[in-house]
Amino acid sequence: SPPSPPPPELQLQDVYIAVKTTRAFHRSRLDLLLDTWVSRTREQTFVFTDSRDESLQERLGPHLVVTNCSAEHSHPALSCKMAAELDAFLASGLRWFCHVDDDNYVNARALLKLLKAFPQTLDVYIGRPSLNRPIHAVEPQPHNRTRLVQFWFATGGAGFCINRKLALKMAPWASGPRFVDTSALIRLPDDCTVGYIIECKLGGHLQPSPLFHSHLETLQLLGAAQLPEQVTLSYGVFEGKLNVIKLQGPFSPEEDPSRFRSLHCLLYPDTPWCPQLVAR
Ligand code: UDP
Ligand code: MN
Repeated sequence: SPPSPPPPELQLQDVYIAVKTTRAFHRSRLDLLLDTWVSRTREQTFVFTDSRDESLQERLGPHLVVTNCSAEHSHPALSCKMAAELDAFLASGLRWFCHVDDDNYVNARALLKLLKAFPQTLDVYIGRPSLNRPIHAVEPQPHNRTRLVQFWFATGGAGFCINRKLALKMAPWASGPRFVDTSALIRLPDDCTVGYIIECKLGGHLQPSPLFHSHLETLQLLGAAQLPEQVTLSYGVFEGKLNVIKLQGPFSPEEDPSRFRSLHCLLYPDTPWCPQLVAR
């Protein structure tokens, strides 16, 4: 048969963005995301939570996914949400899966630019390595034996992406209840489990990218000129201090403690609630 035509150039519509949240953060975190980056990626973004919420339901419609996962901060509860995200992505038929936390900002333009660079023939797992060395896990073996394994994984709190080709191969360890089982087997959290499946079960590799950011790094170090190139950003408390990106304005730290509203105006100055600097 003739060679199949190359796939069309990647568009944002090909990317599935899953946001993990929980009841306690619907007001304090989700509303901010909906006002900012999610307003520019509405069709691609799905929010995975553990509790119904009328006001979120109103804003997100079918893009709010109320899982049956428990609202606690335990490995099984968090892995349950990651499993729901992966299953929903597989069912969507889209080309890329990206996971983020509810304290991440996703820059859709930078994300698309990054993902476009990969040929579709490769298996891709890209994100920020959590540690500067591989993590170790004890993998149970038959007859009460164990095997020490090591692998790299991307910090969930900085966001990461997996292409469909690779995600399909993960299914035997990740689909349905299997993700929670795999996580329990190695006794590690959801983001480590993703790395374990890809590196130890499938022989894949984490592609490290400096463009993904969590609040576990000093976000102040990013220069203003670099901000528009970053794929994800974050905010939070680190070592007792508020850890946020450094941006002059347009909003004050009191009005915009996360700096996400100011960042959003930098990236999308035509947003109605951004101060219009140019006289019209
Ligand atoms: N989270 C959750 N259930 C919980 C606590 C947290 O699903 O019981 C989610 C939260 O919404 C966020 C991620 O897990 O997307 C990380 O939580 P957080 O930022 O509070 O903690 P971190 O691990 O970053 O310190
Ligand atoms: Mn966090």
